Amino acid sequence: MKFYNTLTREKQEFKPIKENEVGIYSCGPTVYSSPHIGNMYAYVCWDVLVRSLNYLGYKTNWVMNITDVGHLTSDADSGEDKMEKGSKKEGLSVWEIAKKYENEFLENLKELNIKTPWKMPRATDHINEQIELIKKIEANGFTYKISDGIYFDTSKFADYGKFANLNLEKLREGARVEINEEKKNPADFALWKFSPINEKRQMEWESPWGMGFPGWHIECTAMSTKYLGETFDIHTGGEDHINVHHTNEIAQGFGAFGHNTAHYWMHNAFITFAGSKISKSSGGLYTVKDLIDLDFDPLAYRYLVLGSHYRKGMEFSLENLKVAENALNRLRNLRVETHHDASLHKINQAFKQEFVEKIGDDLAMPEVLALVWKVAKSDLNPEEKWATILDFDKVLGLNLNKEIAEEEIPEEILKLGEERKEARVNKNWTESDRLREIIKNKGYLVEDLENTCKIKPIK
Ligand code: AMP
Ligand code: ZN
Repeated sequence: MKFYNTLTREKQEFKPIKENEVGIYSCGPTVYSSPHIGNMYAYVCWDVLVRSLNYLGYKTNWVMNITDVGHLTSDADSGEDKMEKGSKKEGLSVWEIAKKYENEFLENLKELNIKTPWKMPRATDHINEQIELIKKIEANGFTYKISDGIYFDTSKFADYGKFANLNLEKLREGARVEINEEKKNPADFALWKFSPINEKRQMEWESPWGMGFPGWHIECTAMSTKYLGETFDIHTGGEDHINVHHTNEIAQGFGAFGHNTAHYWMHNAFITFAGSKISKSSGGLYTVKDLIDLDFDPLAYRYLVLGSHYRKGMEFSLENLKVAENALNRLRNLRVETHHDASLHKINQAFKQEFVEKIGDDLAMPEVLALVWKVAKSDLNPEEKWATILDFDKVLGLNLNKEIAEEEIPEEILKLGEERKEARVNKNWTESDRLREIIKNKGYLVEDLENTCKIKPIK
Protein backbone atom coordinates (compact mmCIF):
# COMPACT_ATOMS: atom_id res chain seq x y z
CA MET A 1 0.00 0.00 0.00
CA LYS A 2 1.35 3.41 -0.95
CA PHE A 3 0.41 6.83 0.43
CA TYR A 4 1.57 10.27 -0.51
CA ASN A 5 3.44 11.54 2.54
CA THR A 6 3.62 15.33 2.81
CA LEU A 7 6.73 14.85 4.96
CA THR A 8 8.73 13.35 2.10
CA ARG A 9 6.65 14.78 -0.77
CA GLU A 10 6.38 11.39 -2.40
CA LYS A 11 4.25 8.30 -2.58
CA GLN A 12 5.73 5.97 -0.03
CA GLU A 13 5.23 2.32 0.80
CA PHE A 14 3.17 2.17 3.99
CA LYS A 15 4.90 0.36 6.84
CA PRO A 16 2.96 0.43 10.10
CA ILE A 17 4.81 0.55 13.41
CA LYS A 18 2.99 -2.56 14.65
CA GLU A 19 2.49 -5.35 12.19
CA ASN A 20 -1.29 -5.39 12.01
CA GLU A 21 -2.40 -2.28 13.79
CA VAL A 22 -2.49 1.30 12.57
CA GLY A 23 -2.82 4.44 14.68
CA ILE A 24 -4.44 7.36 12.85
CA TYR A 25 -5.08 10.86 14.11
CA SER A 26 -7.34 13.20 12.16
CA CYS A 27 -7.65 16.88 12.99
CA GLY A 28 -11.31 17.17 13.84
CA PRO A 29 -13.86 19.96 13.57
CA THR A 30 -13.91 23.28 15.39
CA VAL A 31 -17.39 23.26 16.84
CA TYR A 32 -18.43 26.90 16.64
CA SER A 33 -20.75 26.66 13.65
CA SER A 34 -22.33 24.06 11.37
CA PRO A 35 -19.88 21.83 9.56
CA HIS A 36 -20.20 22.42 5.81
CA ILE A 37 -19.73 19.95 3.02
CA GLY A 38 -16.10 21.07 2.61
CA ASN A 39 -15.34 19.91 6.16
CA MET A 40 -17.22 16.70 5.54
CA TYR A 41 -15.21 16.12 2.36
CA ALA A 42 -12.16 15.74 4.58
CA TYR A 43 -13.84 13.21 6.86
CA VAL A 44 -15.23 11.10 4.00
CA CYS A 45 -11.66 10.93 2.62
CA TRP A 46 -10.21 9.78 5.95
CA ASP A 47 -13.07 7.33 6.47
CA VAL A 48 -12.08 5.79 3.14
CA LEU A 49 -8.49 5.56 4.41
CA VAL A 50 -9.63 3.77 7.57
CA ARG A 51 -11.97 1.46 5.65
CA SER A 52 -9.22 0.63 3.15
CA LEU A 53 -6.83 -0.32 5.93
CA ASN A 54 -9.57 -2.43 7.54
CA TYR A 55 -10.30 -4.08 4.20
CA LEU A 56 -6.66 -5.07 3.94
CA GLY A 57 -6.81 -6.66 7.37
CA TYR A 58 -5.38 -3.95 9.60
CA LYS A 59 -6.94 -3.08 12.91
CA THR A 60 -7.21 0.70 13.08
CA ASN A 61 -7.19 2.97 16.10
CA TRP A 62 -8.71 6.14 14.69
CA VAL A 63 -8.65 9.24 16.86
CA MET A 64 -10.42 12.46 15.85
CA ASN A 65 -10.39 15.44 18.16
CA ILE A 66 -13.13 17.97 18.78
CA THR A 67 -11.71 21.49 18.94
CA ASP A 68 -13.91 23.30 21.43
CA VAL A 69 -11.44 25.88 22.70
CA GLY A 70 -8.55 28.09 21.78
CA HIS A 71 -8.93 28.32 18.02
CA LEU A 72 -8.51 31.99 17.29
CA THR A 73 -9.86 33.68 14.18
CA SER A 74 -6.30 34.39 13.04
CA ASP A 75 -3.54 31.83 12.64
CA ALA A 76 -1.14 34.40 14.11
CA ASP A 77 -2.59 33.87 17.62
CA SER A 78 -4.52 37.08 17.53
CA GLY A 79 -8.16 37.82 16.93
CA GLU A 80 -11.16 36.48 18.76
CA ASP A 81 -11.63 32.96 20.01
CA LYS A 82 -13.90 31.29 17.43
CA MET A 83 -15.98 29.67 20.17
CA GLU A 84 -16.54 32.93 22.05
CA LYS A 85 -17.43 34.59 18.77
CA GLY A 86 -20.01 31.89 17.99
CA SER A 87 -21.40 32.24 21.50
CA LYS A 88 -21.92 36.01 21.16
CA LYS A 89 -23.50 35.60 17.76
CA GLU A 90 -26.08 33.07 18.94
CA GLY A 91 -26.65 34.21 22.49
CA LEU A 92 -25.69 30.79 23.84
CA SER A 93 -22.86 29.91 26.22
CA VAL A 94 -19.68 28.57 24.64
CA TRP A 95 -20.44 25.22 26.22
CA GLU A 96 -23.86 25.16 24.60
CA ILE A 97 -22.36 26.19 21.27
CA ALA A 98 -19.79 23.39 21.51
CA LYS A 99 -22.44 20.78 22.34
CA LYS A 100 -24.79 21.98 19.61
CA TYR A 101 -22.22 21.81 16.82
CA GLU A 102 -20.55 18.67 18.07
CA ASN A 103 -23.96 16.99 17.84
CA GLU A 104 -24.47 18.35 14.34
CA PHE A 105 -21.09 16.99 13.36
CA LEU A 106 -21.89 13.54 14.80
CA GLU A 107 -25.16 13.57 12.90
CA ASN A 108 -23.24 14.37 9.69
CA LEU A 109 -20.89 11.46 10.30
CA LYS A 110 -23.90 9.13 10.45
CA GLU A 111 -25.57 10.63 7.40
CA LEU A 112 -22.43 10.19 5.32
CA ASN A 113 -21.84 6.71 6.72
CA ILE A 114 -18.49 7.70 8.19
CA LYS A 115 -17.36 5.18 10.78
CA THR A 116 -17.40 6.46 14.32
CA PRO A 117 -13.76 6.98 15.28
CA TRP A 118 -12.37 4.90 18.12
CA LYS A 119 -11.85 8.02 20.24
CA MET A 120 -13.22 11.53 19.81
CA PRO A 121 -11.50 13.49 22.55
CA ARG A 122 -12.52 17.07 23.29
CA ALA A 123 -9.83 19.68 23.88
CA THR A 124 -11.64 20.94 27.00
CA ASP A 125 -11.52 17.44 28.53
CA HIS A 126 -7.73 17.39 28.10
CA ILE A 127 -6.55 20.64 29.63
CA ASN A 128 -4.28 18.80 32.08
CA GLU A 129 -2.62 16.81 29.32
CA GLN A 130 -2.00 20.04 27.41
CA ILE A 131 -0.52 21.74 30.47
CA GLU A 132 1.74 18.74 31.11
CA LEU A 133 2.95 18.82 27.52
CA ILE A 134 3.70 22.55 27.65
CA LYS A 135 5.66 21.90 30.86
CA LYS A 136 7.75 19.34 28.97
CA ILE A 137 8.38 21.73 26.09
CA GLU A 138 9.28 24.42 28.63
CA ALA A 139 11.66 22.12 30.51
CA ASN A 140 13.40 21.36 27.20
CA GLY A 141 14.01 25.08 26.69
CA PHE A 142 11.72 25.80 23.74
CA THR A 143 9.45 28.42 25.31
CA TYR A 144 9.38 32.02 26.45
CA LYS A 145 6.84 34.20 28.15
CA ILE A 146 5.44 37.50 26.89
CA SER A 147 2.57 39.64 28.13
CA ASP A 148 -0.20 37.62 26.51
CA GLY A 149 1.09 34.09 26.89
CA ILE A 150 3.69 31.36 26.69
CA TYR A 151 5.15 30.99 23.21
CA PHE A 152 7.11 28.37 21.31
CA ASP A 153 10.45 29.76 20.16
CA THR A 154 10.69 28.48 16.59
CA SER A 155 14.34 29.57 16.28
CA LYS A 156 15.21 26.79 18.75
CA PHE A 157 14.05 24.14 16.31
CA ALA A 158 16.43 24.12 13.38
CA ASP A 159 14.04 22.32 11.04
CA TYR A 160 11.10 24.60 11.71
CA GLY A 161 9.29 25.26 8.45
CA LYS A 162 11.01 22.43 6.58
CA PHE A 163 7.82 20.39 6.54
CA ALA A 164 5.91 23.09 4.67
CA ASN A 165 8.92 24.41 2.74
CA LEU A 166 8.35 27.73 4.46
CA ASN A 167 10.62 30.60 3.63
CA LEU A 168 11.25 31.99 7.09
CA GLU A 169 13.22 34.95 5.80
CA LYS A 170 10.26 35.98 3.68
CA LEU A 171 7.98 35.45 6.64
CA ARG A 172 10.20 37.80 8.66
CA GLU A 173 10.24 40.46 5.95
CA GLY A 174 6.51 40.13 5.42
CA ALA A 175 5.66 40.24 9.13
CA ARG A 176 2.73 42.57 9.32
CA VAL A 177 2.38 45.35 11.85
CA GLU A 178 -0.39 43.65 13.71
CA ILE A 179 1.82 40.68 14.50
CA ASN A 180 2.62 40.71 18.17
CA GLU A 181 5.78 42.79 18.51
CA GLU A 182 6.87 40.99 21.65
CA LYS A 183 7.29 37.75 19.73
CA LYS A 184 10.91 36.85 19.03
CA ASN A 185 10.18 35.42 15.58
CA PRO A 186 7.13 35.96 13.37
CA ALA A 187 6.39 32.22 13.26
CA ASP A 188 6.46 31.76 17.05
CA PHE A 189 3.10 30.57 18.30
CA ALA A 190 1.18 30.47 21.55
CA LEU A 191 1.14 27.35 23.68
CA TRP A 192 -0.83 29.01 26.46
CA LYS A 193 -2.68 32.30 26.23
CA PHE A 194 -3.49 34.40 29.28
CA SER A 195 -7.05 35.49 29.89
CA PRO A 196 -7.28 39.22 29.23
CA ILE A 197 -6.90 41.27 32.43
CA ASN A 198 -10.25 42.55 33.73
CA GLU A 199 -12.17 40.19 31.51
CA LYS A 200 -13.68 36.88 32.49
CA ARG A 201 -13.58 34.37 29.68
CA GLN A 202 -16.27 31.68 29.56
CA MET A 203 -13.60 29.04 29.13
CA GLU A 204 -10.47 29.52 31.20
CA TRP A 205 -8.32 27.39 33.44
CA GLU A 206 -5.66 27.74 36.11
CA SER A 207 -2.17 26.82 34.98
CA PRO A 208 1.41 27.13 36.26
CA TRP A 209 1.67 30.30 34.14
CA GLY A 210 -1.61 31.89 35.12
CA MET A 211 -5.28 31.82 34.27
CA GLY A 212 -5.85 31.27 30.56
CA PHE A 213 -6.49 28.76 27.83
CA PRO A 214 -4.41 26.57 25.52
CA GLY A 215 -3.21 27.65 22.08
CA TRP A 216 -4.89 25.77 19.27
CA HIS A 217 -2.00 23.53 18.17
CA ILE A 218 -1.11 21.99 21.51
CA GLU A 219 -4.35 20.00 21.82
CA CYS A 220 -3.54 17.86 18.79
CA THR A 221 -0.05 16.93 20.00
CA ALA A 222 -1.41 16.25 23.50
CA MET A 223 -4.32 14.08 22.44
CA SER A 224 -2.69 12.24 19.54
CA THR A 225 0.20 11.11 21.74
CA LYS A 226 -2.04 10.34 24.71
CA TYR A 227 -4.11 7.86 22.72
CA LEU A 228 -1.64 6.64 20.11
CA GLY A 229 1.75 6.99 21.77
CA GLU A 230 4.67 9.37 21.25
CA THR A 231 5.13 7.99 17.76
CA PHE A 232 2.22 6.83 15.67
CA ASP A 233 1.49 5.96 12.06
CA ILE A 234 -0.70 8.49 10.25
CA HIS A 235 -1.74 12.07 10.88
CA THR A 236 -4.35 13.60 8.59
CA GLY A 237 -5.82 17.02 7.94
CA GLY A 238 -6.80 19.47 5.24
CA GLU A 239 -4.05 21.03 3.13
CA ASP A 240 -4.73 24.35 4.88
CA HIS A 241 -3.10 22.82 7.96
CA ILE A 242 0.30 22.26 6.37
CA ASN A 243 1.79 25.73 6.78
CA VAL A 244 0.75 26.55 10.30
CA HIS A 245 -1.12 23.96 12.32
CA HIS A 246 0.86 20.87 11.34
CA THR A 247 4.13 22.74 11.08
CA ASN A 248 3.55 23.78 14.68
CA GLU A 249 2.47 20.32 15.75
CA ILE A 250 5.72 18.96 14.36
CA ALA A 251 7.64 21.64 16.27
CA GLN A 252 5.79 20.73 19.48
CA GLY A 253 6.63 17.06 18.94
CA PHE A 254 10.30 17.91 18.72
CA GLY A 255 10.03 20.30 21.66
CA ALA A 256 8.42 17.67 23.89
CA PHE A 257 9.84 14.34 22.70
CA GLY A 258 12.76 15.24 20.45
CA HIS A 259 11.13 13.72 17.37
CA ASN A 260 8.30 13.97 14.90
CA THR A 261 5.20 12.29 16.29
CA ALA A 262 3.74 10.86 13.07
CA HIS A 263 5.39 8.82 10.31
CA TYR A 264 2.95 9.73 7.55
CA TRP A 265 1.26 13.10 7.20
CA MET A 266 -1.63 13.00 4.73
CA HIS A 267 -3.56 16.03 3.50
CA ASN A 268 -6.77 16.41 1.59
CA ALA A 269 -7.21 19.15 -1.00
CA PHE A 270 -10.16 21.52 -0.79
CA ILE A 271 -13.49 21.46 -2.48
CA THR A 272 -14.39 24.72 -4.12
CA PHE A 273 -17.70 26.20 -5.06
CA ALA A 274 -18.22 28.57 -7.98
CA GLY A 275 -14.46 28.91 -8.19
CA SER A 276 -13.79 29.95 -4.59
CA LYS A 277 -12.59 28.05 -1.55
CA ILE A 278 -15.35 27.08 0.82
CA SER A 279 -14.60 28.06 4.36
CA LYS A 280 -16.62 28.02 7.52
CA SER A 281 -15.36 31.39 8.70
CA SER A 282 -16.31 33.15 5.48
CA GLY A 283 -19.94 32.28 6.02
CA GLY A 284 -19.94 28.63 5.04
CA LEU A 285 -21.82 27.00 2.26
CA TYR A 286 -24.11 24.01 1.98
CA THR A 287 -24.34 21.77 4.97
CA VAL A 288 -25.36 18.13 4.69
CA LYS A 289 -28.73 19.18 6.06
CA ASP A 290 -29.09 21.74 3.26
CA LEU A 291 -28.54 18.94 0.75
CA ILE A 292 -31.14 16.77 2.48
CA ASP A 293 -33.58 19.70 2.43
CA LEU A 294 -32.97 19.93 -1.30
CA ASP A 295 -34.11 16.28 -1.45
CA PHE A 296 -30.71 14.77 -2.00
CA ASP A 297 -29.69 11.51 -0.45
CA PRO A 298 -26.62 12.38 1.69
CA LEU A 299 -24.90 9.28 0.34
CA ALA A 300 -25.06 10.89 -3.10
CA TYR A 301 -22.62 13.45 -1.69
CA ARG A 302 -20.44 10.58 -0.48
CA TYR A 303 -20.55 9.11 -3.99
CA LEU A 304 -19.55 12.49 -5.43
CA VAL A 305 -16.60 12.71 -3.02
CA LEU A 306 -15.47 9.22 -4.00
CA GLY A 307 -15.33 10.40 -7.58
CA SER A 308 -12.56 12.89 -6.76
CA HIS A 309 -9.09 12.03 -5.57
CA TYR A 310 -8.48 13.25 -2.03
CA ARG A 311 -5.35 15.17 -3.11
CA LYS A 312 -7.14 16.86 -5.99
CA GLY A 313 -10.31 18.11 -4.30
CA MET A 314 -13.18 19.09 -6.55
CA GLU A 315 -15.42 21.85 -7.74
CA PHE A 316 -18.79 21.27 -6.12
CA SER A 317 -22.08 21.91 -7.88
CA LEU A 318 -25.63 20.71 -7.39
CA GLU A 319 -25.61 19.50 -11.01
CA ASN A 320 -22.66 17.23 -10.26
CA LEU A 321 -24.41 16.06 -7.13
CA LYS A 322 -27.48 15.14 -9.17
CA VAL A 323 -25.32 13.14 -11.59
CA ALA A 324 -23.76 11.37 -8.59
CA GLU A 325 -27.19 10.59 -7.15
CA ASN A 326 -28.39 9.08 -10.42
CA ALA A 327 -25.26 6.94 -10.63
CA LEU A 328 -25.72 5.79 -7.04
CA ASN A 329 -29.32 4.83 -7.73
CA ARG A 330 -28.34 2.96 -10.87
CA LEU A 331 -25.85 1.06 -8.76
CA ARG A 332 -28.52 0.27 -6.17
CA ASN A 333 -30.77 -0.95 -8.98
CA LEU A 334 -28.32 -3.74 -9.75
CA ARG A 335 -29.66 -5.41 -6.66
CA VAL A 336 -33.00 -5.86 -8.41
CA GLU A 337 -31.40 -8.14 -10.93
CA THR A 338 -30.15 -10.54 -8.28
CA HIS A 339 -32.53 -13.28 -7.25
CA HIS A 340 -30.58 -14.81 -4.44
CA ASP A 341 -28.72 -13.66 -1.44
CA ALA A 342 -25.56 -12.20 -2.91
CA SER A 343 -23.60 -13.13 0.19
CA LEU A 344 -23.91 -16.77 -0.86
CA HIS A 345 -22.07 -15.97 -4.05
CA LYS A 346 -18.45 -15.79 -4.84
CA ILE A 347 -16.59 -12.55 -5.12
CA ASN A 348 -14.77 -12.29 -8.41
CA GLN A 349 -11.09 -12.62 -7.55
CA ALA A 350 -9.69 -10.95 -10.65
CA PHE A 351 -11.74 -7.80 -10.01
CA LYS A 352 -10.90 -7.97 -6.33
CA GLN A 353 -7.21 -7.99 -7.18
CA GLU A 354 -7.68 -4.85 -9.30
CA PHE A 355 -9.60 -3.25 -6.46
CA VAL A 356 -6.83 -3.92 -3.95
CA GLU A 357 -4.24 -2.43 -6.31
CA LYS A 358 -6.27 0.73 -6.77
CA ILE A 359 -6.96 1.41 -3.10
CA GLY A 360 -3.29 0.62 -2.46
CA ASP A 361 -2.25 3.29 -4.94
CA ASP A 362 -2.75 6.26 -2.61
CA LEU A 363 -6.50 5.60 -2.41
CA ALA A 364 -7.28 6.00 -6.11
CA MET A 365 -11.03 6.21 -5.54
CA PRO A 366 -12.03 7.67 -8.93
CA GLU A 367 -10.42 4.60 -10.49
CA VAL A 368 -12.18 2.39 -7.97
CA LEU A 369 -15.53 3.84 -9.03
CA ALA A 370 -14.63 3.20 -12.67
CA LEU A 371 -13.84 -0.38 -11.67
CA VAL A 372 -17.22 -0.72 -9.94
CA TRP A 373 -18.89 0.23 -13.22
CA LYS A 374 -16.63 -2.14 -15.13
CA VAL A 375 -17.90 -4.94 -12.87
CA ALA A 376 -21.49 -3.73 -13.26
CA LYS A 377 -21.23 -3.82 -17.05
CA SER A 378 -19.26 -7.05 -17.19
CA ASP A 379 -20.74 -10.37 -18.23
CA LEU A 380 -20.48 -11.89 -14.77
CA ASN A 381 -23.77 -13.35 -13.60
CA PRO A 382 -25.88 -10.85 -11.59
CA GLU A 383 -25.22 -12.54 -8.25
CA GLU A 384 -21.44 -12.62 -8.68
CA LYS A 385 -21.51 -9.00 -9.81
CA TRP A 386 -23.51 -7.93 -6.83
CA ALA A 387 -21.40 -9.97 -4.38
CA THR A 388 -18.24 -8.35 -5.81
CA ILE A 389 -19.67 -4.84 -5.67
CA LEU A 390 -20.93 -5.39 -2.13
CA ASP A 391 -17.44 -6.49 -1.16
CA PHE A 392 -16.04 -3.22 -2.55
CA ASP A 393 -18.75 -1.36 -0.68
CA LYS A 394 -16.90 -2.19 2.56
CA VAL A 395 -14.54 0.59 1.44
CA LEU A 396 -16.94 2.73 -0.60
CA GLY A 397 -19.33 2.89 2.34
CA LEU A 398 -22.33 3.59 0.13
CA ASN A 399 -24.51 1.26 2.14
CA LEU A 400 -25.59 -0.43 -1.07
CA ASN A 401 -27.19 -3.36 0.68
CA LYS A 402 -29.12 -1.41 3.25
CA GLU A 403 -32.65 -2.56 3.81
CA ILE A 404 -34.92 0.45 3.98
CA ALA A 405 -37.91 -0.08 6.23
CA GLU A 406 -41.26 0.63 4.64
CA GLU A 407 -42.09 3.48 6.97
CA GLU A 408 -38.84 5.12 5.95
CA ILE A 409 -40.03 5.71 2.39
CA PRO A 410 -39.46 9.40 1.89
CA GLU A 411 -42.29 11.85 1.44
CA GLU A 412 -41.05 12.70 -2.05
CA ILE A 413 -41.40 9.08 -3.23
CA LEU A 414 -44.83 8.70 -1.66
CA LYS A 415 -45.91 11.85 -3.49
CA LEU A 416 -44.64 10.52 -6.81
CA GLY A 417 -46.52 7.30 -6.05
CA GLU A 418 -49.73 9.29 -5.53
CA GLU A 419 -49.21 11.16 -8.82
CA ARG A 420 -48.70 7.86 -10.57
CA LYS A 421 -51.87 6.43 -9.06
CA GLU A 422 -53.79 9.37 -10.43
CA ALA A 423 -52.23 8.91 -13.87
CA ARG A 424 -53.40 5.28 -13.81
CA VAL A 425 -56.91 6.28 -12.79
CA ASN A 426 -56.91 8.57 -15.83
CA LYS A 427 -55.50 5.73 -17.93
CA ASN A 428 -52.52 7.91 -18.80
CA TRP A 429 -50.12 5.00 -19.22
CA THR A 430 -47.25 7.04 -20.66
CA GLU A 431 -47.27 9.29 -17.61
CA SER A 432 -47.59 6.38 -15.22
CA ASP A 433 -44.60 4.62 -16.86
CA ARG A 434 -42.59 7.83 -16.75
CA LEU A 435 -43.28 8.20 -13.02
CA ARG A 436 -42.44 4.54 -12.39
CA GLU A 437 -39.07 5.17 -14.05
CA ILE A 438 -38.41 8.27 -11.94
CA ILE A 439 -39.29 6.34 -8.78
CA LYS A 440 -37.03 3.48 -9.87
CA ASN A 441 -34.15 5.87 -10.48
CA LYS A 442 -34.58 7.09 -6.95
CA GLY A 443 -34.17 3.55 -5.64
CA TYR A 444 -37.77 2.32 -5.25
CA LEU A 445 -39.96 -0.24 -6.99
CA VAL A 446 -43.65 0.19 -7.64
CA GLU A 447 -45.67 -2.99 -7.46
CA ASP A 448 -49.16 -2.77 -8.95
CA LEU A 449 -51.66 -4.79 -6.97
CA GLU A 450 -55.34 -5.30 -7.76
CA ASN A 451 -56.75 -2.05 -6.42
CA THR A 452 -53.70 -0.31 -5.21
CA CYS A 453 -49.96 -0.20 -5.60
CA LYS A 454 -47.12 -0.71 -3.21
CA ILE A 455 -43.78 1.04 -3.13
CA LYS A 456 -40.76 -0.72 -1.77
CA PRO A 457 -37.08 0.02 -1.67
CA ILE A 458 -35.01 -1.84 -4.20
CA LYS A 459 -33.28 -4.63 -2.32
P1 AMP B 1 -12.52 23.21 10.87
O1 AMP B 1 -13.79 22.76 11.52
O2 AMP B 1 -12.63 24.55 10.26
O3 AMP B 1 -11.37 23.09 11.83
O4 AMP B 1 -12.23 22.23 9.68
C1 AMP B 1 -12.31 20.83 9.79
C2 AMP B 1 -11.56 20.16 8.66
O5 AMP B 1 -12.15 20.48 7.41
C3 AMP B 1 -10.10 20.57 8.55
O6 AMP B 1 -9.30 19.40 8.44
C4 AMP B 1 -10.04 21.41 7.30
O7 AMP B 1 -8.81 21.30 6.68
C5 AMP B 1 -11.14 20.78 6.47
N1 AMP B 1 -11.73 21.70 5.47
C6 AMP B 1 -12.21 22.94 5.67
N2 AMP B 1 -12.72 23.47 4.54
C7 AMP B 1 -12.57 22.52 3.58
C8 AMP B 1 -12.90 22.45 2.17
N3 AMP B 1 -13.50 23.45 1.54
N4 AMP B 1 -12.58 21.31 1.51
C9 AMP B 1 -11.98 20.28 2.13
N5 AMP B 1 -11.65 20.28 3.44
C10 AMP B 1 -11.93 21.38 4.17
ZN1 ZN C 1 -5.03 19.35 14.63
